[in-house]
Amino acid sequence: MQTKAFAVKSATTPFGPHAIDRRAPDPKDVALDILFCGVCHSDLHTARGDWPGTQYPCVPGHEIVGRVTAVGKDVTRFKPGQIVGVGCMVDSCRSCAQCQDGLEQYCDGPVGFTGTYNGPVGGGPNTYGGYSASITVDEHFVLDIRHAEKDLAGVAPLLCAGITTWSPLRHWGAGPGKKVGIVGIGGLGHMGVKLSHALGAHTVAFTTSPNKVAEIKAMGADEVVIPKDTAQMQKHLNSFDIILNTVAASHNLDAFTTLLKRDGTMVLVGAPPTPHPSPAVFALVFKRRGIAGSLIGGIPETQEMLDFCAKHGITCDIEMIKMQDIDKAYDRMIKSDVKYRFVIDMASLK
Ligand code: NAP
Ligand code: ZN
Ligand code: ZN
Repeated sequence: MQTKAFAVKSATTPFGPHAIDRRAPDPKDVALDILFCGVCHSDLHTARGDWPGTQYPCVPGHEIVGRVTAVGKDVTRFKPGQIVGVGCMVDSCRSCAQCQDGLEQYCDGPVGFTGTYNGPVGGGPNTYGGYSASITVDEHFVLDIRHAEKDLAGVAPLLCAGITTWSPLRHWGAGPGKKVGIVGIGGLGHMGVKLSHALGAHTVAFTTSPNKVAEIKAMGADEVVIPKDTAQMQKHLNSFDIILNTVAASHNLDAFTTLLKRDGTMVLVGAPPTPHPSPAVFALVFKRRGIAGSLIGGIPETQEMLDFCAKHGITCDIEMIKMQDIDKAYDRMIKSDVKYRFVIDMASLK
């Protein structure tokens, strides 16, 4: 069926209306009308060709909340009318060791996982994401949403910003007695602060934007540091168990690795278009510090995060926009001028 969407046709053209085709539900599929879609910096990297491999026309959007309109005959977990979420993936091989472990984002299958937009990571037919009126997805990749309906716009960004920070915080053991740093307080970073705080860790935020400090404290940060203030940075030398780095631009990592205690790890989730300068080896070897990376999160841990957020009353801080204002939103995101996630009200597409 034909569905309204917004697409870019090249890296340098603005977004405009574009009709796409959505399949009628197969036996295991769930079809939903999209209510809200968050705007991730990865949408911008992909649409504007920051990263290699964008297939055009490109319809981004992988922070989707919607209402089920139809289900295939073998679907057991969802029914029409239900509020559900779709995140960054819509398929994977389901049989490799990664998929069996519920970590579909690391799928070893022939083409890896299939992104909600821009097709399988290993190449293949294009997929179209949440900047659209509806989507059809295999039930395995559909999430149950337990938040109140009034909160749904603030729930949408949990589907990427939430899980991308939750997965490494859990994997590296954020919790009581641990000191956690979050670098870059945009969409991902503000969720990192909220989740780390809710998990019981002593949470320190690093922001280049002094105008965000009071709000970041209100999110649950115990301390907020401006990295260019070297005296503030010195106070935290050798003290962090985990630093989660969400910055979307290339920068000097040594300023943060030196803040890790012995055996501490800095986890990179930000994916800048150009590489970071090489880290200083001595800053790592003398305290057995590590630099790691982490990609979104698997479906079971995404459900775990959504349920944790529903239980603890956690949603994202958002600024609602119309679909037609997406280019302006991207321009503001590049300037770190977003508090703290743009969310598209999909009613504006109708
Ligand atoms: P965002 O909302 O634009 O936030 C990024 C934040 O980083 C900014 O708000 C700013 O925070 C800081 N920042 C940006 N440019 C900077 C610079 N030049 N120097 C220092 N700080 C800077 O972006 P996002 O949606 O959170 O995504 C962040 C990155 O993560 C992107 O590269 C995105 O593609 C990537 N990502 C990765 C995954 C994954 O699975 N690994 C998933 C989703 C997104 P302050 O104002 O606080 O300094
Ligand atoms: Zn994302
Ligand atoms: Zn697999």
